Amino acid sequence: MIRQFSQILLISLEKHIFINNLKYSTSALPRFSSEKYSIKRKNFGSLHDADLNYFRSLLSADRVITEESDVLPFNIDWIKNCRGQSKVVLKPKTTEEVSQILSYCNSKKLAVCPQGGNTGLVGGSVPVFDEIILHLGLMNKIISLDEISGALVCEAGCILENLDNHVREHNLIMPLDLGAKGSCHIGGNISTNAGGLRLLRYGNLHGSVLGIEAVKADGTIIDCLRTLKKDNTGYHLKHLFIGSEGTLGVVTKVAVHCPALPKAVTLGFFGVNCFENVLELYKSAKSSLGEILSAFEMADNGAISSTVENLKLSNPLGDFPFYVLIESSGSDEGHDNEKLNRFLTKEMETGHIIDGTVTSEPAKMRNIWNIRESIAGAGLVDGYVFKYDVSIPLQNYYDIVLLLRKRLGNKATRVYGYGHVGDGNIHINVTTPEYTKEVYEMLEPYIFEEVAKVRGSISAEHGVGFRKPQFIHYSKDETALHLMHGLKHFMDPNGILNPYKVLPD
Ligand SMILES: Cc1cc2nc3c(=O)[nH]c(=O)nc-3n(C[C@H](O)[C@H](O)[C@H](O)COP(=O)(O)OP(=O)(O)OC[C@H]3O[C@@H](n4cnc5c(N)ncnc54)[C@H](O)[C@@H]3O)c2cc1C
Repeated sequence: MIRQFSQILLISLEKHIFINNLKYSTSALPRFSSEKYSIKRKNFGSLHDADLNYFRSLLSADRVITEESDVLPFNIDWIKNCRGQSKVVLKPKTTEEVSQILSYCNSKKLAVCPQGGNTGLVGGSVPVFDEIILHLGLMNKIISLDEISGALVCEAGCILENLDNHVREHNLIMPLDLGAKGSCHIGGNISTNAGGLRLLRYGNLHGSVLGIEAVKADGTIIDCLRTLKKDNTGYHLKHLFIGSEGTLGVVTKVAVHCPALPKAVTLGFFGVNCFENVLELYKSAKSSLGEILSAFEMADNGAISSTVENLKLSNPLGDFPFYVLIESSGSDEGHDNEKLNRFLTKEMETGHIIDGTVTSEPAKMRNIWNIRESIAGAGLVDGYVFKYDVSIPLQNYYDIVLLLRKRLGNKATRVYGYGHVGDGNIHINVTTPEYTKEVYEMLEPYIFEEVAKVRGSISAEHGVGFRKPQFIHYSKDETALHLMHGLKHFMDPNGILNPYKVLPD
């Protein structure tokens, strides 16, 4: 039975982000990445007092962080898997400061790790050894918003949720949305080519980003900050920075196209009996809802149970093998509801939907989204999470979860899958009481081999970062890797920008 959404008691997403930001006690500290993954330091320069004095003269002392306990959170990634050993965090406020820092570091061969909101899930945002952390958080000004074209221009350190709140006041929305929106930066989103919950409707950032200003490793400022939808004057250089994870340049300003704020949004959360029915539902949603379909997300029972048990969220539905979240966004409530009702009636009759709840009330929609968005953090409460983010053709989409459950047996606390079905992107989480090499070796490279067998991608949206360069060949052939190395060498001949990330040695 589809019912109106009833009271759901939820803790907010901020709360689970808070869990992660608890003061680090020494016993909770992850091991250094270099030791855990046996990495050798490359031949970069080492930081001296003279370097710190230079940075202090450039930025002022309060924007050069050297106190060990203050630097620590910048050295540890969101899932507490990777830990670097940086001695300093620099906080520039302008593009010119970024340029001067990079020019100096390049001349001294000092390695640099650009960092946004540090919500990345592949270890790309934290150093591996003593790289200087370049934190963009103080570059957070909104520069302009053209309400007619929807072009937003801002600095790279703006938090995604703040931007969304700002453009909503002008009847626009950001073209991307993700669970980390309260912390991640637009510069980080662009550098990872973040996907998220609205990709089905608005496409990825290669389409939405209109222009970029970035600083190369030698300090050169590249000005591609146009707000035009069409500009075919030669190579589309902005794309070099979208998804290059801080290895080709530091993004300092961005221009993003913001779509119109939909006037009518409705969200449904449904219980489904088997994965085949999830696919049937998706097929039907595409043809029945057409242009108003804005999200189609899936979570298996294990994913929802982890939020219910670990974060004490309440599930508005009963216990089902699979859950599907469908959002429609359009401009005419009457027209959209008519379509939606026809679709829901048909899908209840066919049995693809067993139970569900539908709402258009903003607070209730937020609560449903909260369940979905909280899955990413819920597993941390079990102790340790091995996280994978892969693209798989839809007919094989869920097989990998079943394979992993069988392979790991009782070595894992939970193995579950959830993700953006509409984009063929599944997130697989394996939780254990603590990190063990035995489980790690059962998972990698096995999972990537299985993904390669069906010509999937070993990274759908989180990127390659520090954790996957040695596996990139499962998704990129030798000629593509050769070109990537060539580009890196051209853009950053000394290799100072985010070393040990993205490219295999
Ligand atoms: C709860 C949760 C939910 C998430 N959901 C999604 C999701 O649905 N879809 C998705 O794609 N991702 C998701 N992520 C992953 C993450 O939020 C995204 O990758 C996000 O885009 C990272 O932004 P950030 O500002 O935190 O970047 P960081 O984590 O700080 O950095 C990520 C990478 O970008 C580089 N970088 C950051 N800023 C710059 C810059 N200005 N210039 C150059 N390089 C830079 C860093 O060096 C690093 O390699 C989620 C994460 C969490 C914790």
